[in-house]
Amino acid sequence: RKAEFHKYMNAASTTVDGHTVELVANIGNPGDAHNAHKNGAEGIGLFRTEFLYMGRPNFPTEEEQFEAYKEVAETFGKDHPIVIRTLDIGGDKELDYLELPKEMNPFLGYRAIRLCLDETDMFKTQLRAILRASAFGNVKIMYPMIATIVELRAANAILAEVKAELDTAGIAYNKNLEVGIMIEIPAAVLVSDQLAKEADFFSIGTNDLVQYTMAADRMNEKVSHLTQPMNPSVLRLIRMVIENAHREGKWVGMCGEMAGNLVAIPLLLGLGLDEFSMSASSVLPARVLMSKISLADAKEIAAKALDMQTADEIQQFVQDSFPVIE
Ligand code: PEP
Ligand code: MG
Repeated sequence: RKAEFHKYMNAASTTVDGHTVELVANIGNPGDAHNAHKNGAEGIGLFRTEFLYMGRPNFPTEEEQFEAYKEVAETFGKDHPIVIRTLDIGGDKELDYLELPKEMNPFLGYRAIRLCLDETDMFKTQLRAILRASAFGNVKIMYPMIATIVELRAANAILAEVKAELDTAGIAYNKNLEVGIMIEIPAAVLVSDQLAKEADFFSIGTNDLVQYTMAADRMNEKVSHLTQPMNPSVLRLIRMVIENAHREGKWVGMCGEMAGNLVAIPLLLGLGLDEFSMSASSVLPARVLMSKISLADAKEIAAKALDMQTADEIQQFVQDSFPVIE
C-alpha cells in the first residue's frame, strides 16, 4: 500500500484517458503546509487564515501574517499554487478581541467578507501581507462568502488601494496575482455567469453551500441527515458553477469536504472540476483513484447521476459504477 502510494508522490493527477487535474490541500497554519507537501499535495487550495487570528489576545500584525504566508509559499516553491483565503471570521468562529453583536443566526449573519468590508483597516493589513508574500511564490487571493457582485467589486476596490500603496512605497508583489472567490452561497451560484467575468477563479465551498442550499445548520446534529453533498440539488448547483466558469475560460476548484470524498471524486471529475482541495491525508488516495478511472466514464456517470432523485441512490450508483473506489 505504502509502496503504491510512493509512486504517486510526485506524479501528476491524471486519469486513464489522460485528463489532468490538480490535487491540493486545505491548511490552517504554515506547519500544515509542510505536512501537505510531504503527502503529495501539488499546492494549497485553501489556507484558512482565521487560525492566525484565533487563540491570541490581539490582531496578528502585518509582519506576522507576511511571515506565515511567505513560509507557505516557500514550502511549495514558485510553480505551485497557494490560495490564501481572506479572513472568514464570524459564524462559528469568534475572536476574543473583536467584539461582535450576538446574533440569532450567526451563519446567516455578520461574517467573512461582510465583516472585512466594514473593518477595512483589518482587511487592508491582511491584503498587504498577502500581496507582499506573492513576491515569493504563486500566491492567489480568495474572498469567502461572496453573495453578490457588488461585494466582489468592493473587495477588489480595497485591494486596488492596497496595491497602489505598495507601488508608492516601492514594495514588491506579483502584479498578475489571481483573485478568486469562494462559491458557497446559492445566490452566487445563480449569478456565477456574471461573477465569472470579474473573478479569476472559483472555489466551491460545499460545507457552506450544502448548509445554505438545504437550509440545514452545519453544526446542528438534528438536521445533519440533510447535510447531503450528493443531493441532486447540490450537484446541479455544482454543474452550473463549473459550466459558467468554463464559458469565461476560468478554472474551478472545490475546497469543501466533498472534494476529498472518494465517491464524490468521479462525479466532480465528470462535471469538469479542475482543482480538488482536501485534507493532506486524502491527497494520495485521491490521486490513486484518479489514475484508475477515465474522464469519459466519469462524464457519463455524472450525467446520469444528476437525473437521479436521492443522495443515497446517487451514492450507490457511483460506487457500483466504479468498483475501484475503496
Ligand atoms: C466551505 O464552506 O466549504 C469551506 C471550505 O469553508 P469553511 O469550511 O472554512 O467554512
Ligand atoms: Mg465556508
